[in-house]
Amino acid sequence: MNETIKILLVEDDDGDYFLTKSVLEEAYGDKCRIDWKNNIGSALQATQNENYDVFLFSLNIGAGNGINLTRQVHSQGNETPVVLLTGTDSADFEIDARQAGASEYVAKKHLSAPLIERTIRYVVESKKDEQALRHLAHYDPLTGLANRTLFNARLAEGIATAKRLRGSLALLLLDLDHFKKVNDTLGHPVGDKLLQEVSRRIQDSVRETDTVARLGGDEFAVIATHLGKRNNASVVANKVIREVARVKQVDGHSISTNASLGIAFFPEDAYDVDDLLKRADLALYQAKDAGRGVFRFYDSELDKKSREVARLQSQMFKSIQKKHFVLHYQPIIETETSELVSVEALVRWDHPQLGLIPPQTFIPIAESSGLIIMLGEWILKQACRQVREFQDGGLPHMSVSVNISAVQFSHEKLFEHVAEAVDESGIQPSQLELEITESTLMSTATQVNETLQRLSELGVRLSVDDFGTGYSSLAYLKRFPLDRLKIDRSFIHEVLKNQDDAAITRAIITMAKALRLEVVAEGVETDQQFAFLRSHGCENVQGFLVSRPMPGAKLLDWHQRYVAAQEDAGRS
Ligand code: C2E
Ligand code: MG
Ligand code: MG
Repeated sequence: MNETIKILLVEDDDGDYFLTKSVLEEAYGDKCRIDWKNNIGSALQATQNENYDVFLFSLNIGAGNGINLTRQVHSQGNETPVVLLTGTDSADFEIDARQAGASEYVAKKHLSAPLIERTIRYVVESKKDEQALRHLAHYDPLTGLANRTLFNARLAEGIATAKRLRGSLALLLLDLDHFKKVNDTLGHPVGDKLLQEVSRRIQDSVRETDTVARLGGDEFAVIATHLGKRNNASVVANKVIREVARVKQVDGHSISTNASLGIAFFPEDAYDVDDLLKRADLALYQAKDAGRGVFRFYDSELDKKSREVARLQSQMFKSIQKKHFVLHYQPIIETETSELVSVEALVRWDHPQLGLIPPQTFIPIAESSGLIIMLGEWILKQACRQVREFQDGGLPHMSVSVNISAVQFSHEKLFEHVAEAVDESGIQPSQLELEITESTLMSTATQVNETLQRLSELGVRLSVDDFGTGYSSLAYLKRFPLDRLKIDRSFIHEVLKNQDDAAITRAIITMAKALRLEVVAEGVETDQQFAFLRSHGCENVQGFLVSRPMPGAKLLDWHQRYVAAQEDAGRS
């Protein structure tokens, strides 16, 4: 050891003190500074005021003893290695001493310069190794932040303390937006440096006493104690988000990544580690959903909703197998003749407890879980079978429109499922129309176009649903083999009152004609709307004016009544 070694020697016996001192001086010469204390009180004070390389505690110190002193020093978080100096050869105290945290012990009567030097070197180096190991086990090597292990321990500790002191604690979870893109486009070394810079900024935005951890990838956490009111957490959250969002210079690249952040509180939102984590995670999820670069507090109402979603999702698979879904069919008529030309198949979930659930509630869940593929396949087959029945029941020219979600469209089996459904039912491919939305068309255009081409070559008809709500791009429409446009019902709703809606509706009809596409107006509810559409040359209409969607079994009856009513109207 080249530097001066600092030793705290606690010894109540003057003779023993002088003996130990002389041995130490023999071992270290002038490279040793010895502070001597002869009672527990002043020893404890010294351990708090100074940094030592090693503590030498006599086993007996007045009324107290070196083992208890070791325990006290350790409980204060002091990790300086302790060597006990004992008056006997007996090792009775050894277990106690080790448990208290002492590293070694030496019998005073064997004390010699080489022995004490070797012992001290050994305990100091072992302590360093132990600390290095602990650092590895508890800290993230890339950023130097606490890792998940230490984070979990600190969170448990923080909650326990807050429980005891009736305090509070905020858990902030943070996720970089689009970090993967940085890694993919600029490479991992740049990604790593970005994470290091972000870590520094998070740490600079919170108090030193707060724990900042990297939980993995681009996920970070802050445990903030003593925050007091919820509002104070939003100050911290805002600061973190603002700091992280500032442009970062990494290897000559200016990178602007945002962070999303979710916050949950002990004890208001959750009372234990697991729940608190889950709720902060949910809040983070909501922040990402809200458009990224923002923070959200945990919200129990949203939580209830998301649990509801999770429940529906878990029931959906069984329901598909048990055929708890039904299709309703809504007539589409020709404007000029008022004749029924086709129907749109609209799915409902016939839930054993909840009754009929509308598609807007469960289609998004089916999409996010992937179950839409299985459900969609059933819908296609069922719809085709049903048209076949309509045909056999006296409606020879009927066709059916089936809604296809974007998720289905990007699935490689879609073409197969369509072809099978047509084949099995024995209908003409032209009796099936697939409704896709503008956003599906715009997505990964090449692959979508390829699928559209194959479907079109098969003879299936293709239409754009809810037209006008998305890009409404003419140039795009020209690239795809489409047959129809369906004007979204939001335009029809006020087509008579709102000049803009009327202008848009007229423009869509004109544009469709120029592209040789047929037009259907959705959501027609009144005679006036119908008259407007008819006068502007809209070929087909669909809506409550004609009929609400109905079970397939009712359609033939409905049709008879409809025809009779039309004839009556024609005569009068
Ligand atoms: P969409 O394809 O635009 O279907 C038309 C929706 O408008 C239907 O709602 C229909 O009941 C409703 N509607 C029809 N006429 C009127 C009217 O005059 N006034 C009003 N206010 N509404 C009218 P529904 O059945 O609740 O379906 C909602 C959406 O769910 C559909 O919109 C479609 O995007 C989706 N969907 C329905 N069935 C399926 C399906 O089998 N597969 C997929 N992927 N999506 C489906
Ligand atoms: Mg539709
Ligand atoms: Mg629609």
